[in-house]
Amino acid sequence: MKTESGREFLPFALPDIGEEEIAEVVDCLRSGWITTGPKVRRFEQDFEAFLGAGSGFGAVTCNSATAGLHLALEAIGVGPGDQVLTTPYTFTATAEVVRYLGAEPVFADIEPDTLNLDPAAARAVAGRCPKLKAIIPVHFAGQSCDMNAIAALAADLGVTVVDDAAHSLPTTFDGRLIGTLSPITVFSFYATKTIATGEGGMLVARDPAILQRVRTMRLHGINRDVFDRYTSTAPKWYYEVVAPGYKYNMPDPAAALGIHQLRKAQRFQARRQAIADRYTREFAGLPLSVPTVRRPADMHAWHLYVIQLELQSLDIDRDRFIELMAQEGIGCSVHFIPLHLQPYWRDRYGFTPDSFPRANGAFRRVVSLPIYTKMSDADVERVIDAVKRILERHAR
Ligand SMILES: *Cc1c(COP(=O)(O)O)cnc(C)c1O
Repeated sequence: MKTESGREFLPFALPDIGEEEIAEVVDCLRSGWITTGPKVRRFEQDFEAFLGAGSGFGAVTCNSATAGLHLALEAIGVGPGDQVLTTPYTFTATAEVVRYLGAEPVFADIEPDTLNLDPAAARAVAGRCPKLKAIIPVHFAGQSCDMNAIAALAADLGVTVVDDAAHSLPTTFDGRLIGTLSPITVFSFYATKTIATGEGGMLVARDPAILQRVRTMRLHGINRDVFDRYTSTAPKWYYEVVAPGYKYNMPDPAAALGIHQLRKAQRFQARRQAIADRYTREFAGLPLSVPTVRRPADMHAWHLYVIQLELQSLDIDRDRFIELMAQEGIGCSVHFIPLHLQPYWRDRYGFTPDSFPRANGAFRRVVSLPIYTKMSDADVERVIDAVKRILERHAR
């Protein structure tokens, strides 16, 4: 796609699919096994190794992170009337899965700089939630929440932490990989995420009973998955339905992508880190806030690079800034439109914009800039030049 000035349009996000992925998918297609099978098994084993051989965590693929979050809450027994605490500063999937089970999400405001769930706000809200069952922290943009504070809160309340790790592969907190901190963690491999399978997700947990429940509910409540059905010594046609489960399994062509994407996860992170570092250096002194990094020694996945415009120093608003970036041939986005502003959540719980003033304030200022491994150095410079030019022209 070309812009008016004849330059290529730089999309906001692109997956990075190499020849290894393509060969593995072709191998899968030629094998004749195109649903859940040996590639899925290998992807899950590789993921367990990625988390650390001794970590004791099991990995279960699913066809999205949304499915994984639903399976996680189902497995810990969230049901009608229960409450699940999370952030309003997330994608609707984080909260919608709570509604799938007839439970109610409750929201606590964010830290204004990291845009992560504020543990103090979460503690205040939790004190008013007699039916709280779980907390879902979202590691926004790929930076870990304060997991010491969140784990302490969950322990005090006797509730389970389920991490929404859709942005955070690979991310660490205190040197430990997200995925190994909480009882259950769910990753996303949606097309734009840090590693991609088109659609897909991975649930990781250590408790064997949780893992077994998730594996059963992932595929129609059948007590063995399709792969086992075709490789075990029991009659091939025999299976037992033990619950009204879901159809959430990952097909092998997606796992074929995931196997190779996972091997590149650290290299991809290093490239995004370099882009983030360059942005942060170049944007010093402009009327914007660069992303706050709380613990520089920890790994930030840099799924997103989110600036906050200093609107009082500009004669344009955030929407106009994004339009001007588009005129420069650069795709930007907004993460997130807070859930309390969305019609469904607003109307169901009677929210106003001020129900979560920090989330609302951030929403008016944030712009997500392109940050992905397929960007060349010249692409990165183009983004920097455009941001500088627009902000210098519109400073007041
Ligand atoms: C992308 C995303 C999801 C959903 O992931 P899917 O794999 O598309 O279901 C959930 N939570 C957050 C924060 C996300 O960004």
